[in-house]
Amino acid sequence: NLNGEDELQMAIGSDKNATKQSCKVAVIGAGAAGLVAARELQREGHEVVVYEEGEKVGGVWLYNSDVEDDPLGLDPNRCSVHSSMYASLRTNLPRELMGYLDYPFLPREGRDVRRFPRHEEVASYLQDFAEEFNLLLLVKFCTKVEYVGIYRGDGNTEADIVNDSSFKQQLLREGCEDLREDSANLETRWVVRTRERRQAVEKERDVLNFATGCEDQVTDVIFDAVVICNGHYSQPRVAWIPGLEKWPGKQMHSHNYRIAEPFRDKVELVTEDGTVHFQDGISCHVDVILHCTGYLYSFPFLDTHGIVTVENSAVGPLFEHVFPPLLAPSLSFVGLPFKVVPFPLFELQSKWIACILSKSSSLPSTKDMMADVQSFEVRLAEEGIPKHYTHNLDSCQFEYDNWLAAQCGSEPIESWRIKMYKVAQKIRKLYPDSYRDIWDDYDLLDEAQSYLLKLKT
Ligand code: FAD
Repeated sequence: NLNGEDELQMAIGSDKNATKQSCKVAVIGAGAAGLVAARELQREGHEVVVYEEGEKVGGVWLYNSDVEDDPLGLDPNRCSVHSSMYASLRTNLPRELMGYLDYPFLPREGRDVRRFPRHEEVASYLQDFAEEFNLLLLVKFCTKVEYVGIYRGDGNTEADIVNDSSFKQQLLREGCEDLREDSANLETRWVVRTRERRQAVEKERDVLNFATGCEDQVTDVIFDAVVICNGHYSQPRVAWIPGLEKWPGKQMHSHNYRIAEPFRDKVELVTEDGTVHFQDGISCHVDVILHCTGYLYSFPFLDTHGIVTVENSAVGPLFEHVFPPLLAPSLSFVGLPFKVVPFPLFELQSKWIACILSKSSSLPSTKDMMADVQSFEVRLAEEGIPKHYTHNLDSCQFEYDNWLAAQCGSEPIESWRIKMYKVAQKIRKLYPDSYRDIWDDYDLLDEAQSYLLKLKT
């Protein structure tokens, strides 16, 4: 029973779909960022493969009691553990804010129903999300991305993988001197090399059968675009403190902290030379130095011939923290900003990438994107903001979210979210020990719950 207006809307919709470009896209990582990127790309009509090194979706929310063999995480050859979760962790954001915009993080019977639940509850929510949107079918588990490089061939030979720096010169010429209006015409494609870990069971069976073919499987696949969602809370950043190399006590990074028990009764057992001196003149003897000094952005698999670099914890040059202008739109990053409400931000970045790749929306010219990046850098310097705060969006995160939403015709962030975030920040500062169990934003909570429940139905 369609009326004329419905028919017209459908015709416009199908016309829009007909002009959309579909790309073959690799998503690296099946954490909160990779999952929503996969959903948005698929919704927009792209063909998606998600590569995930682990055995499950959830990324950092999959608690792993294992720790690395180098507790400071400095040894590049250490056996690495992805998640930095510790056993007792509860979220630092209320669940109403934390969830994706259109898939509320509601309490479920029989699970942790608290407003600030434990980490297992977030892992379950992400698993629910993946199941709800049939994303598990897109994920290649136990498959590590080892190399992502620029590809300019016809798909037949290894030599097609660009492996000389003249390519960068060519890109710089094409991208900057030629001042292309449509950077999508650059048609950079990517080779993605993966290593699929054979399951222990299969390996065992092979050994029992004296079979030889038990090596991991290494595969190269060519993609139109790559979306990097590998997380940035795995590679410890360790502060350099004079004298530390001679200090005799135990040192570790918070990445390798899991439970408090080993630290019970540690401090005050004074040892003769285990002294730590602080800037304000205080000194004391300690057993353990636990470095809670953050993490480094790391893309060990990415080879852009120096076009994208990580310097002083800033990934760049990037237009709006997502697209490197010279390689846009075929290379993009989801999830770099910090001090944000992550899941909704990931969702909006992903929508934007999906629309740009399908050409439902377009980017400024390469020249204009580069100019924007440069003026952003100048602004940071003028305001005295250190480079390692490049991706710190704290006070402007909702402005950023709304800008992203506008790029792809989505609604701006609801005002209750912004208010609730501000209240949550304030309460957290005032009552760091109790903010998860005592709050007073009842009006906002009511508004949020009725909004989210309506969304669910
Ligand atoms: P990740 O969750 O790290 O996922 C990245 C995925 O990529 C992983 O599954 C990894 O295995 C995979 N991967 C990496 N490299 C490769 C490769 N080469 N090949 C294949 N796969 C690869 N956020 C909140 O909203 N609320 C909180 O309360 C909160 N608390 C936090 C507490 C801690 C201790 C930490 C570390 C983070 C916390 N966060 C919190 C932030 C959290 O990081 C984000 O919420 C979000 O989960 C990050 O998702 P991601 O997908 O970007 O990264």
